[in-house]
Amino acid sequence: MTSLQVNGERLWQSLMTMAEIGATAKGGVNRQTLTDEDRRGRDLFRRWCEEAGLTVTVDRMGSMFGHRPGRDPDRPPVVLGSHLDSQPTGGKFDGALGVLAALEVIRTLNDRGVATEAPLEIVNWTNEEGVRFPPAMIASGVFAGVFDLEYGLSRTDHAGHTIGGELQRIGYAGPQKVGHRPLGALFELHIEQGPILEAEDRRIGVVTGGQGTRWYDCEVIGAESHAGPTPMEARRDALRATAELLGEIYAIAQAHAPDGRATVGELRAFPGSRNTVPGRVAFTVDMRHPDGGVMDAMDHALREAFERARGRAPALEFHLHEIWYAPPVAFDAACIAAVRDATLALGLSAREIVSGAGHDAVYMARVVPTAMIFVPCKDGISHNEAEYASPEACADGANVLLHAVLARAAA
Ligand SMILES: [Zn+2]
Repeated sequence: MTSLQVNGERLWQSLMTMAEIGATAKGGVNRQTLTDEDRRGRDLFRRWCEEAGLTVTVDRMGSMFGHRPGRDPDRPPVVLGSHLDSQPTGGKFDGALGVLAALEVIRTLNDRGVATEAPLEIVNWTNEEGVRFPPAMIASGVFAGVFDLEYGLSRTDHAGHTIGGELQRIGYAGPQKVGHRPLGALFELHIEQGPILEAEDRRIGVVTGGQGTRWYDCEVIGAESHAGPTPMEARRDALRATAELLGEIYAIAQAHAPDGRATVGELRAFPGSRNTVPGRVAFTVDMRHPDGGVMDAMDHALREAFERARGRAPALEFHLHEIWYAPPVAFDAACIAAVRDATLALGLSAREIVSGAGHDAVYMARVVPTAMIFVPCKDGISHNEAEYASPEACADGANVLLHAVLARAAA
């Protein structure tokens, strides 16, 4: 069946034609969600879907589904797609590749007269980027039950427009209930948006999940004193104690290399005077790992590091507050295997990879067996007008998508 391949040239043409909508002077795309540009992108996508014989429906969050019947109408559809909205200075490939490769899969099956047992559905999720209407991935989030519909429709932009109002304005406030229907599997092709595949010269990333994230607010309290007369051993220097602690925090990530991450992205010393010993330091910690058990071990290690700091400096106070935890997402083993098998059958070099960024598939993994496919992008650059994936990389990804979907929909 690997003789069945997508038309890479047609996929490239579709990508370039879509990129004309909202094209920027520097070669990127500004097609922010629910703008007139987004409407034009949606209209074009709808036309292409209808030309490919798909029945297009739109749900109340404006997400678009193009349905291709299967031989067995009782089987839930296998879903493939991504998003057509972009960053203000976005690229031609982020999201659009996943949607248009899904369309190319359908076109290829049509050309070759291939029917599937399960129906297929290609999807364009509303507002993946979350630039104009935070938070990101809101429509797939509503579909997956992470947010309720009321919350989704009432998000506002800076001008006070709501998602619900803008959906009405551009004609994409659909009638279909969001979610609450069975799906057989979901596959999302996306550019990597990082440097690993290109650096290792691999053509496909078999995405096994998304990493977990924990955010902490931390505070160290000592006492202000004069930088001159106060002997070093008499000080309660909050920043000096913090400096010792920082080394231990980075060591926690190092102990769980290569996937562990620890970032102290904000740090403020008070009162912020060059000749006063800092009496208070406030800082943040962001810790990540793809494995939930390791995330918990890292959390435990962080608490121990704070305990040791208290032991070293009993005259100071050390506060650690966890403020957010997004657990790691493991994609479905059978869907990952379908991607891996497709990669092997096509003879494409691959490696397993964990997504560092959020994607619609990460929310959808909560309600449907899901996997993702990554292809390399130049210098790992994304959310940038210079974003680039080669025609070969786009076709590689679409071919893996095609064969993973076929395996799952039992051609
Ligand atoms: Zn994206």
